[in-house]
Amino acid sequence: MPTFEMQTIMFSYLVSNILVTIVMGNVWLQNRKRFKGTSHWFIYYILQTLGIFLVMLKGIIPDLISTVVANTIIVGGMMFFLIGLQRFMERKSEYLINSVYLVFFFILYYYFRFIDPVFKYRILLFSISVIIIIAQSVYLLMYKTEKDKRNIYRNTAIVCSLMLLLYSFRVGAAFFLYPHENEFITAGIIDSAIMMTSQMLGIMMTFSLVLMINMRLFTEVQQYVEERELMVHELRRLASTDGLTGIYNRSKIEQLLTIEVLRARRYKHPLSIIIADIDHFKIVNDTYGHNVGDVVLTGIASMMKEHVREVDFIGRWGGEEFLIVCPETTADGARKLAEKLRKKIEKHHFKDIGIKTISMGVAQIEKDDWDEEMIKRADKNLYKAKRAGRNRVV
Ligand code: GH3
Ligand code: MG
Ligand code: MG
Repeated sequence: MPTFEMQTIMFSYLVSNILVTIVMGNVWLQNRKRFKGTSHWFIYYILQTLGIFLVMLKGIIPDLISTVVANTIIVGGMMFFLIGLQRFMERKSEYLINSVYLVFFFILYYYFRFIDPVFKYRILLFSISVIIIIAQSVYLLMYKTEKDKRNIYRNTAIVCSLMLLLYSFRVGAAFFLYPHENEFITAGIIDSAIMMTSQMLGIMMTFSLVLMINMRLFTEVQQYVEERELMVHELRRLASTDGLTGIYNRSKIEQLLTIEVLRARRYKHPLSIIIADIDHFKIVNDTYGHNVGDVVLTGIASMMKEHVREVDFIGRWGGEEFLIVCPETTADGARKLAEKLRKKIEKHHFKDIGIKTISMGVAQIEKDDWDEEMIKRADKNLYKAKRAGRNRVV
């Protein structure tokens, strides 16, 4: 069977790892303040590179270092990958268990290298360690994440799954295809192919990590923008709402009135307004206190709001006065609405206080009218209604 030369493959593996380490170093520098875990990924690539370098120095440095130490460093690097993921995803990471496992790995590897040297057991030990670490990563990426965030982690999960496949294959190969091999560096085409694939996956892993950071960033920016939009919306609402009654405040209802006056003048459409004032409201405050007065005020405001049309606007004009703007409505129409409101309120029974009534003045827009003229006429009518005995519409 043809073989690729393992030293060349290892050299290429080393170079690509050095380059990828530089990239990850930069990724760490850019993101260290934003996300946790990137430093661990940087260390992961440093350790991978160091491990591969030590393996390549076989024959030059003591065997203990080029085999047992080198492989322990590589597996330790993988652990940094996993811890990086856990930190990136804000999960708990197990430094102690990982360290204990690494000691256990070192001893076993040492045993199968120097005391009872069996190549396939070393392959098995190494591959299973990698599988355990990567399987945890896949589990974390695919199953321990909220559904709407899975797309952030999908690419990394795919690369990890491919790694799982590769190392599972390697275990099989060591047992069934290469039962008699005894040296990694001289191993056959399958090991060469595995090394090359592993190199590609190392590069792909960098891509997927960078992509993952980007997706997370994008998602967070999107969330931030959405929150801001809601805030702006809420602020706008608050700025135009009367705090006590929940209807429009004075400045908003004035603004709406101006717009409607402009529209009515421009298109020569009817427009009417109603000014309502609660009758003898001072008595409520004086007898029952301001708080009870507020309850009555709120109650009357919500009754009015409930019974105006959807196209009408209602706002708090003053202390216990309300302004209703009725677009496309003549004075007759507005009086009908006012009468309806008057009857509704007259029928309502306030706890402890009993009946409260309102008086209303109506005005329709006339040629050359601006807001002030309309308001003045409506006010005058309101005054007439009060003078005529209250609880009525003029
Ligand atoms: P009238 O029938 O002539 O309208 O009698 P009135 O007592 O309602 O007289 P007026 O409109 O002059 O009185 C307004 C009173 O409304 C004065 C004040 O005590 C009360 N008031 C104004 N704003 C508020 C408020 O926000 N809460 C409470 N509880 N009372 C208010
Ligand atoms: Mg008043
Ligand atoms: Mg009043």
